[in-house]
Amino acid sequence: MEILKTTSQMQSWSKAKRKESKTICFVPTMGYLHKGHVSLLEKGDPLCDELVLSIFVNPTQFGANEDLDSYPMDIENDLRLAKEAGTTAVFLPNKEIIYPDNFQTQISLTNLPNHLCGKSRPVHFGGVATVVTKLFNIVMPDIAIFGQKDYQQLQLIRQLTLDLDFDIKILGGDIVREKDGLAMSSRNAYLTESQRASAISLSKSLNLAKKLISEGEKNVSALQEKLQTFIHSYTETNVEYITFCDPKTLEDIELINNEVLLALAVKVGKTRLIDNVLISV
Ligand code: AMP
Repeated sequence: MEILKTTSQMQSWSKAKRKESKTICFVPTMGYLHKGHVSLLEKGDPLCDELVLSIFVNPTQFGANEDLDSYPMDIENDLRLAKEAGTTAVFLPNKEIIYPDNFQTQISLTNLPNHLCGKSRPVHFGGVATVVTKLFNIVMPDIAIFGQKDYQQLQLIRQLTLDLDFDIKILGGDIVREKDGLAMSSRNAYLTESQRASAISLSKSLNLAKKLISEGEKNVSALQEKLQTFIHSYTETNVEYITFCDPKTLEDIELINNEVLLALAVKVGKTRLIDNVLISV
């Protein structure tokens, strides 16, 4: 497994592989890998000749009061997991490589960032779109895989790929969960024992919604009220949003009569957690 730290190293490696007609699959991450990240690598492995992982905690997608400085890191463990999952190259740039002095360009989308997490994280998706565009140009993959855990991000990257004519196939990976249902996240490491117990309210509330909808409740306001009451019955929880929306446009809906995305953001203590599910009716 090669470790490449500069843009030119990574681009030269990819160009050489492409010249040999090797297909490249790419999984971008911010590191502190867990089974969710590994599942994306495992999904990519049989689809390609070369499997590239990037680890970069992208500063431009964090707001001023967010957790950039405390974001967890364990490069040694990440490299071990990456190798076990069949990764052939890791792109491991530092901040100066991705954002050299006098960096000026920003990629932004007009509609998708106005919903869900974009409402409370105004700089987030501009940062994501910009870094993913750069990573695509540096890694030059044939396939890129993103988790459905970050559903809005996945939709935005599909749109960006289409809009900017990247010749890259975008694939989504299922959400990997702990045994009790909590969606795996690097940020789960922040939770205290009691907060970890409360964090289960997110996935449980998704199941509750599925049950209520299958029993005939189609009114979004009524569902939101029940889910909020349910989540707030757990200590230290604070709901940021409970949104039922169109799975493609992410526009809010009021009455459920088609497939719907239910997406949640909940603060548990100071840790902001997200989860989602697609519900068919
Ligand atoms: P992150 O390191 O949090 O930026 O995540 C890197 C990639 O892993 C993103 O495409 C995420 O959507 C994906 N991911 C994070 N958590 C999970 C999970 N529990 N299951 C599947 N994919 C995930």
